Amino acid sequence: MTERRAIAPLPDLLVSQIAAGEVIERPASVLKEILENALDAGARAIEVRLEGGGIRRIAVTDDGTGIPSEELPLALARHATSKIASLEELEAVASMGFRGEALASIAAVAQVTLVSRPSTAQHAWRIEGGSLQVEPAAGPIGTTVDVRQLFDAVPARRKFLRSEATEFGHCVEVMERIALAHPMIAFRLFHHDRPHRQWLAADAGRRIRDVLGAEFADHSLPLAAQAGGIALSGRVVRPTMARARVDRQYLYVNGRYVRDRTISHALRTAYADVLHGDRRPAYVLFLKIEPGAVDVNVHPAKHEVRFRDSGAVYRYVLQVVGHTLAHTGGAMPPDRSAAMLVLGSGADPLQTPVAASVTGALKPFGERPRQEAVGGATPPRLPTQMPLRWHSEGGSIPTANWRDLYRPLVEDTPIASPRSLREPTAGALQTEAEYPLGVALAQLHGVYILAQNAHGLVLVDMHAAHERVVYEQLKQALDGTHMPRQDLLVPVVFKVQEKEVALVEEYQAQLIELGFELRPAGPCTLAVRSVPALLARGDIEALARAIVSDLARVGVSNLLRERRNEFLATMACHGSVRANRRLTLEEMNALLRQMETTERADQCNHGRPTWVQWSMGDLDKLFLRGQ
Ligand code: ADP
Ligand code: MG
Repeated sequence: MTERRAIAPLPDLLVSQIAAGEVIERPASVLKEILENALDAGARAIEVRLEGGGIRRIAVTDDGTGIPSEELPLALARHATSKIASLEELEAVASMGFRGEALASIAAVAQVTLVSRPSTAQHAWRIEGGSLQVEPAAGPIGTTVDVRQLFDAVPARRKFLRSEATEFGHCVEVMERIALAHPMIAFRLFHHDRPHRQWLAADAGRRIRDVLGAEFADHSLPLAAQAGGIALSGRVVRPTMARARVDRQYLYVNGRYVRDRTISHALRTAYADVLHGDRRPAYVLFLKIEPGAVDVNVHPAKHEVRFRDSGAVYRYVLQVVGHTLAHTGGAMPPDRSAAMLVLGSGADPLQTPVAASVTGALKPFGERPRQEAVGGATPPRLPTQMPLRWHSEGGSIPTANWRDLYRPLVEDTPIASPRSLREPTAGALQTEAEYPLGVALAQLHGVYILAQNAHGLVLVDMHAAHERVVYEQLKQALDGTHMPRQDLLVPVVFKVQEKEVALVEEYQAQLIELGFELRPAGPCTLAVRSVPALLARGDIEALARAIVSDLARVGVSNLLRERRNEFLATMACHGSVRANRRLTLEEMNALLRQMETTERADQCNHGRPTWVQWSMGDLDKLFLRGQ
């Protein structure tokens, strides 16, 4: 039998300790709460001093409004706040805090000292957690919150803390998240009195560079858009630079770092078209929305928010990010280093300072590579590591007739003919200036196109680039309600399995939408009667087989709507010019011109780059010219 106890209110300290369980998990969560208080107090400069990864001590000094001495005891009291006073104010809350619980919770699980001085006070005042007594103290205008011996009195919690190094890492992460969203505030971080981070007040772009590094800044695209009560700004990584790991995903709603499934889904969808499956986009995005349209009071630590109209938010983010990614076509890579990092190796370019190691290799022994050489203007490593070889395997260069090519490239697709190419009077320089991707010079081993533009040399991965062009053309054709079809004079017949015949019968209508007329021609045979006009000159059987196998793999009823782009990608892959085909200069130029007018042309369907730029400067460095 369980013995019954009388109902009694919990002691105050215990209530706070229970509340602390929700919000205060580790030193980083203490730091987050204290930093947010400093933000709410209008601080312009914030200094953080940690000891023992924040377990032994977290001291944060700000130059904000301060707390009048008579309110100091209230600051440490539970459910006492200066930020809201009514439900209406809660619903429109713009400050980071509003629960009036953080300091009380922290004081319940650690030793807290507050020292604060508003600008009107003669001197600062101090209060210790657990006391109601304030006493005069020395200190500048603003507030210092000093937290020691976290969880000393709560051994159960203390056990869950990791090593000091790990806890310190979490603290740095919290600081970075907050610093990214508040570029106008200066931050400094010390660990055991050693300086670790210092960010000066800056604009948003500069702060992103300072916190996340030059590589992210250089390889990301800025965006800024506003419509009605919603605005989105920040930077998203170029698809060619996306990382396989899920980090560097910073999302802020009204200045608050949150995780939100609606928005991350929108981002995944926006990148789905241009990113290889296992890669994750990196981004720093600030969503601003009127406070009434979002509920921040969902989670005690406020890691999540709830949108009143999440569908609208989803569509907005998808549209803005999708637009940003779509309009990178034909643009120069952000700088030389982008091209070089791409060329460097298969290693994740955001993680490996490829260029730095190269500098080291080229500099005289003993001279250390300069710091700014990381991802900066250094010679590309490819040629330095590949000694020139002379060989005469003429047969390795395919010499197929250009008519073997996938022909729509030159015949069927409307190509704005580069006029100046035909007019010998037009100077070469003028032509190069006219065309961002320049004028084709030659083809390398049937794989790459070499072109000359105003900046220097452009290298194009022929197959990847053409695949992207065809893919976008197919998408556009399908968006125009129907895919132009071309009937085949002689149907192409091929053998399949019974179940595939059944599948084709079932999805005949949707296949027609995609531009395919496929009919059973026997229990185990299919006949292709028409195909998308854009692909009519390709290998029809291979194309049809690929479509049927896609159909078998996906096999859901409305697949052609949901998985449309997958099908188009398969089609584009079969419809595009293969490597190892020899192109004429005219064909190469036609492809370059198509790339310039195609959205997302600078990455293939798998997120790999389709072209890179080597400037004259890069090439000069390669030969140590002018050094
Ligand atoms: P909340 O932030 O939800 O109001 P807290 O427990 O974090 O609750 O803080 C309680 C109150 O103490 C705040 O409402 C604020 O008035 C005051 N306060 C806390 N930190 C600071 C600070 N750094 N500068 C000025 N006032 C502060
Ligand atoms: Mg607070």
